[in-house]
Amino acid sequence: MEFRILGDGCTARMVFTTLVKPTPYLLLMVNLVILASTPGYGMVTSSRIWNGNIPSKVCAFTWKLVQNRIPFKLNLSKRGMCNFQDGLTCVFCTTVVEDTNHLFLHCKTAFNLWSKCFRWWGVEHVMPGTCWDAFNQHKDLFSNTTVKIGWDIIWFAITWTIWLARNEVIFQNKHLDEVKLFDLVQTRSFQWLKLKGEGKGITLFDWIQQPRLSTLTAFTKKRADI
Ligand SMILES: [Zn+2]
Repeated sequence: MEFRILGDGCTARMVFTTLVKPTPYLLLMVNLVILASTPGYGMVTSSRIWNGNIPSKVCAFTWKLVQNRIPFKLNLSKRGMCNFQDGLTCVFCTTVVEDTNHLFLHCKTAFNLWSKCFRWWGVEHVMPGTCWDAFNQHKDLFSNTTVKIGWDIIWFAITWTIWLARNEVIFQNKHLDEVKLFDLVQTRSFQWLKLKGEGKGITLFDWIQQPRLSTLTAFTKKRADI
């Protein structure tokens, strides 16, 4: 079977023989190619999501997040899949109905976390309206291509940390510790920096003190090793 998709300047072609079993991963890739052919979505974005520096489950989560396909409360409730005891409000602020953009960007808890991370990286920012815009905004934040790779890791770490914290509050009755969220982003992103061998010799202290320089060192070393 052959897929040939043309759209908005983006051409994608995937060929499968009848002997190839349509595994979930294969179908996901087809889905990505179809998505890539739609206006406003480029292969650059999908290559940033599946960038090889992040655990695959986090990549899959981000892929759903930027498409607004996260199973948040309102979404699940509409499908009759869940009946939340505490209603449909955001578990962090308990005042606004939970949806993707509120939970990950505009809720006070999320906003504070983003602000801390932006300060950590020394950049000014304006919070965009959607996760899609937030993900794509970052290509304009840094002029250096390697630094962008490092910030991408932070982006994944922030959203993944918010999602895990939200689930712990809902499903494990855990208390939200906002200070801990920032620590988690820093340690988690550091682990991912080193996941594929990048960051050898770079310590967590280096990463926390000088994230941009650590990124440049890590990926420059990686390229020199090739
Ligand atoms: Zn909230």
